[in-house]
Amino acid sequence: MKAIVKTTPTDGFEYITDYSERPVVDGEVRIAVAAASPCGTDRELVRYSATAKAFGLELPVVLGHEVAGTVIEVGPGVETLRLGDRVALESHIACRNCYHCRIGQGHNCLNMALLGLHVDGGFAERLVVTEHACYALPDNVPTETGALFESAGVAVHAMLRSQVTLAGRSVIIAGAGPIGLALVQLAHLSGARRVVAIEPNDFRRGIAESFGAVALESDQAAVEWCLNDAADRHGFDVGFDCTGAPGALDIILQSLRREATAVCIGVPRQPFALDITRYVIKHGITLKGSFGRSLWETWDVLGSLVSQGRLDLNSLVTHRMGLSKFQEALDLQGSDAGKVLLIPGID
Ligand SMILES: [Zn+2]
Ligand SMILES: [Zn+2]
Repeated sequence: MKAIVKTTPTDGFEYITDYSERPVVDGEVRIAVAAASPCGTDRELVRYSATAKAFGLELPVVLGHEVAGTVIEVGPGVETLRLGDRVALESHIACRNCYHCRIGQGHNCLNMALLGLHVDGGFAERLVVTEHACYALPDNVPTETGALFESAGVAVHAMLRSQVTLAGRSVIIAGAGPIGLALVQLAHLSGARRVVAIEPNDFRRGIAESFGAVALESDQAAVEWCLNDAADRHGFDVGFDCTGAPGALDIILQSLRREATAVCIGVPRQPFALDITRYVIKHGITLKGSFGRSLWETWDVLGSLVSQGRLDLNSLVTHRMGLSKFQEALDLQGSDAGKVLLIPGID
């Protein structure tokens, strides 16, 4: 079958048209991929950057961790899925045995395997996964849309992790990529009084505005705008950094009021200094991190919102192309594009 494979610990990837498929064993299913979407992580993996090395890839591996498809083969002992079920995949595959798994925190698993990094992923015509990585899509959600659940789930998890009731609050979001744009929508759904998206790219600022956000460039003027807009409370109530970019968290922290909450989602390339005295001690800001999704609370909330038509993921998709166009899909990142779907059925 056709697959995008990372074969060596160097810059690059291979597009293989006769990649051999492995058999389905106990507890596993084979899935025909309907769509899979590349993200910034895939670009790091292809470049084999320091971020990629830190993941400890198991090579060779089929890339692709944002995936949805249909179950076409069911292995022995599978209890939760049947032929024809349409599923989105959780890319963080928990061991189900470690301490965190046993106390119901599979998202904190100490033996976590990552789809498309440690086990073959979804930039392929088919893949084999454990049934426990599958989320059955609600009936009225198109299978393709399921490929957007993994990244949108990051936004849902971050919102829940903030533990801030967003109704009536002012929310600042750094980064209007797929996660930031989902957060813009979630904040509005939750009744936020003001949602500001900080984003350097014009095209993405335009999408953020179409979702009702005030979209500002990523600079000191954005801080002034927020402090002025929320002058009655001396700053915004909650911030989400979806970028990990240098300076982005600082713009958020400067824009927040005392005892506000900041949630870090985007992964910084390297450690950086933070003014703990000013922000954490004197301003009393709660600083949190959010990684991945919670099993399966995130998926349940997300599935409900998408199936009810409240959260619009389809508008994030700007391009559809075949697996052979993988490099083009990567190159679109950071340009005038939203989510790109790789569809195995397209040439
Ligand atoms: Zn991703
Ligand atoms: Zn575990």
